[in-house]
Amino acid sequence: MSAPNAREFDTLVVGGGIAGLQAALDLADQGFSVAVVEKDASIGGKMIRLSKVFPTLDCASCITTPKMAAAAHHPRITLFTLCDLQSLSSGNGGAFPVAARVRQNPRYVDMDACIGCRKCEYACPVYVKDAEQGGFSARKAVRIPFSNAIPQKALLDVANCMLCGKCASVCPTNAIRYDEEPREFELAARTAIVASGFELTGIGDKNLYGRGSIPNVVDSLQMERLLAPHGPYNRVLRPSDGKEPASIAYVQCAGSRDQSQGIPYCSRVCCMYAVKQAMLLSGALPLADVTVYYMDIRAFGKNYEQFFQNAKAMGIEFVKAKAASLAPGEDGGVAVRYEDQSGDGTAVREHDMVVLSLGMVPGWQPGAECAVPLAEDGFVRTIRPSTSPTLTDIPGVFVAGVAAGPKDIVDSIAEAGAAAMQAAAHMTEQAARVANANGEARS
Ligand SMILES: Cc1cc2nc3c(=O)[nH]c(=O)nc-3n(C[C@H](O)[C@H](O)[C@H](O)COP(=O)(O)OP(=O)(O)OC[C@H]3O[C@@H](n4cnc5c(N)ncnc54)[C@H](O)[C@@H]3O)c2cc1C
Ligand code: SF4
Ligand code: SF4
Repeated sequence: MSAPNAREFDTLVVGGGIAGLQAALDLADQGFSVAVVEKDASIGGKMIRLSKVFPTLDCASCITTPKMAAAAHHPRITLFTLCDLQSLSSGNGGAFPVAARVRQNPRYVDMDACIGCRKCEYACPVYVKDAEQGGFSARKAVRIPFSNAIPQKALLDVANCMLCGKCASVCPTNAIRYDEEPREFELAARTAIVASGFELTGIGDKNLYGRGSIPNVVDSLQMERLLAPHGPYNRVLRPSDGKEPASIAYVQCAGSRDQSQGIPYCSRVCCMYAVKQAMLLSGALPLADVTVYYMDIRAFGKNYEQFFQNAKAMGIEFVKAKAASLAPGEDGGVAVRYEDQSGDGTAVREHDMVVLSLGMVPGWQPGAECAVPLAEDGFVRTIRPSTSPTLTDIPGVFVAGVAAGPKDIVDSIAEAGAAAMQAAAHMTEQAARVANANGEARS
């Protein structure tokens, strides 16, 4: 049973990425009340951090921001940001059988008072590497997380703050709260949708790729930031020395289909995002050579094969080879040792930069306290993957997007719509059962 003072909603959505936002909007538009619990300071998930999206090359933030704004302004959606889901259980009976414990991490800024004016950010003297920009540029210790973050509220990074008081002295609404503490609270709901997405496999996970120690080896999300219109440099530059790279290589399956890393599965999107980034690089750096070392290209979606053929026609070189290892090269370059699958044996080529096409691992590892069972690959288990891919082992708890396994944006959105429909149907059946039981009790 839910705690007596838990806040109650029709549906609890875990994760404010594109899948969670789509599911929340679909349910709220049908009249259901929805709580979206998001562990980051902003909703939007990975998609708001991308440059453009395959296969249309639409600007990612232009199509994500309206959905984020629609969710934030929807009267039936409540956003809980900087909130980490601690546990989720269901089936304890009552009208709100889903019980969630949530940890609210401190923002050190009063959300209601902050007007997003950024005066604190301008006054703060502390510069820290900005993870939102791939670590390539700096941010202040107090800042709005990124330009189109929702909510547009400041966030103070207490680990790097030197408590100089400058932010508090300039804030026009006295919103800075140095003494905020984390707190836990309960949410109760009739249904839940787990849309907790993914993280990339670590750039330092593999010895043969240098464990993050080779300069100018970046991961694919860092390259998204270098290509983004509001990226760290506003153009593509090599991080170690600011030089325009003349030769860039992609290493495919750099964290997927690899038993040595415990990730035997294909992450599905890496081939297509590498093809997309290679095309964008050819546009941004017309004189640069772009090479993709691949085992096989999986262009599985609508118009994806044509997209791949267009990349080849643009002059991007696809080398069918398993990249065996990386090593520091001449003048900041990176030497790629690879085994050519066309039978030419091993070879070494130097590139100015290398991008690792890292794979996807689950964004949330529910602990023992959580009732949602996982499959062998660590993603949420679905009980009828062929016919009802959003059903989990727990009645009333559904899954959408990459939380259930690697997939692209189109499939994540389609699955989110399906999860919302399943949740709505579940609540309608639940209401009918209660009405019947009440009718029988009266007669
Ligand atoms: C480099 C790269 C480029 C890509 N390019 C494309 C492309 O061009 N086109 C395309 O179709 N796809 C692309 N993709 C894939 C795309 O990013 C995913 O399909 C999409 O983001 C999946 O959305 P999601 O909502 O399922 O997950 P996410 O975007 O990961 O969102 C999940 C959200 O859940 C939150 N969360 C996790 N755990 C918790 C918790 N315990 N409590 C609260 N909140 C939690 C996370 O903070 C996150 O905001 C790309 C992927 C990568 C890595
Ligand atoms: S108190 Fe901390 S966050 Fe505020 S201005 Fe000083 S260093 Fe920056
Ligand atoms: S905390 Fe104050 S100064 Fe900073 S953005 Fe909010 S209102 Fe502006």
